[in-house]
Amino acid sequence: MSNSRKVHVKSFGCQMNVYDSNRMADTLAPAGYAETAAAEDADLVILNTCHIREKAAEKVYSEIGRIRVMKEEAARQGRTMLIAVAGCVAQAEGEEIMRRAGAVDLVVGSQNYHRLPEMIARAQHGEKVVDTEFPLEDKFAALSAPAREATAKRGVTSFVTVQEGCDKFCTFCVVPYTRGAEVSRPVTQVVAEVERLAEAGVREITLIGQNVNAYHGEGEDGAPSSLGKLLRRLSRMPGICRLRYTTSHPRDMNDDLYRAHAEVEELMPYVHLPVQSGSDRILDAMNRKHTREEYLAVIARLRAARPDIALSSDFIVGFPGETEQDFGDTLALIEEVGFASAFSFMYSPRPGTPAAEMEEQVAAEVKSERLQRLQALITRGQRAFNAGFAGKTLDVLLEKPGRLPGQLVGKSPYLQAVQVMAPRSLLGSVAPVTITEVGSNSLFGELAEHTAPQLAAAGA
Ligand code: SAM
Ligand code: SF4
Repeated sequence: MSNSRKVHVKSFGCQMNVYDSNRMADTLAPAGYAETAAAEDADLVILNTCHIREKAAEKVYSEIGRIRVMKEEAARQGRTMLIAVAGCVAQAEGEEIMRRAGAVDLVVGSQNYHRLPEMIARAQHGEKVVDTEFPLEDKFAALSAPAREATAKRGVTSFVTVQEGCDKFCTFCVVPYTRGAEVSRPVTQVVAEVERLAEAGVREITLIGQNVNAYHGEGEDGAPSSLGKLLRRLSRMPGICRLRYTTSHPRDMNDDLYRAHAEVEELMPYVHLPVQSGSDRILDAMNRKHTREEYLAVIARLRAARPDIALSSDFIVGFPGETEQDFGDTLALIEEVGFASAFSFMYSPRPGTPAAEMEEQVAAEVKSERLQRLQALITRGQRAFNAGFAGKTLDVLLEKPGRLPGQLVGKSPYLQAVQVMAPRSLLGSVAPVTITEVGSNSLFGELAEHTAPQLAAAGA
């Protein structure tokens, strides 16, 4: 079928939503929808939403307001524009979205994307469609495979969801309610998807999941596979030169994964390992199922396996009952570990989660002041980490053109953005780059001398 209609998908929140947005676009391609970056031209606008914090959820409603204006303009021009709300807000709020925002035509929960073509057909007949049931069928198996052209357009790095959902029930978190129970995709399904991506020119794969290191998908031999085993299997795939994974839970780190860090060359030395707090009292109230000491022991194992490993984390400040002493414990943990980077958030009470009902909610000004102190410390750590690379040569996977003419941007093994003057013919290859300047968010460098033969081979 020719692509006569246009779909615009806007992603909010985590990488899992970015991946889902791409897969929604893939699933709509056979139904005649081509992706467009311009929402105003689209016949269908999908907002793939995030419910993790209140601000993220509220953003959706202002975005719907903006798209509604475009929908009204399209109607004046005699065109129909459908608005779909997908993702975790859709899952959590369901029909409520239709009540609050009458312009919305479809609400599709995070497990039902494969049903989109059929839902759209109903909405085109004027029906308001809501589908947020957790289905029995396997969403991943039912979703269309990415079309080769679409994949090629998406560049040299790609996310692949291998695990979804969470059974941990941290007391602050909505994920177990919006994404459902933990499930892992079978190895054969993941391998087939990565093969297709490699054929389309993807060189780096990041395996993603809410608790990706809890991965236990069916292996090619029928027995459950660990994430370590899956990484080893993918490391043998032609064309794939880098592997990463995110997000991990400290409790789910295991020997297979530590060994993979020591032995699998393609596995990059970077782990995102959220700790949330450095206080045992708060970790317990959060139901994190690990102590500060256990977290530090995991870090020690990772460093023993791969001494140069870079670490990042997530932190929540102002969890109910957090005292200045608890917060001090978090700052001390940050100093002790020395993170390469980190995400940090003010605690946001989420309806239906146990922490939202807890007494001793922390005042907004206290949260905000603690966040600033924590972020200043993280930034200092990040600068110190980056400064250590001045004058060193790093392997950089060159991903895309930079802002300046003749410049390419890529990533170091430690996930730092690196800007370098290099010919476009090197896009998609790993080049040694000597770091000449260290900025707060990225490194700047020059192609190392020994790149010359490679440049000649590339005809530059
Ligand atoms: N599964 C991962 C883990 O266990 O760390 C992370 C999942 S969550 C999508 C990403 C981050 O959002 C969390 O690590 C946490 O720091 C933050 N987060 C989750 N719920 C939150 C809340 N109610 N308020 C503030 N931050 C929150
Ligand atoms: Fe949320 Fe905790 Fe599950 Fe992470 S482990 S997704 S923070 S419930």
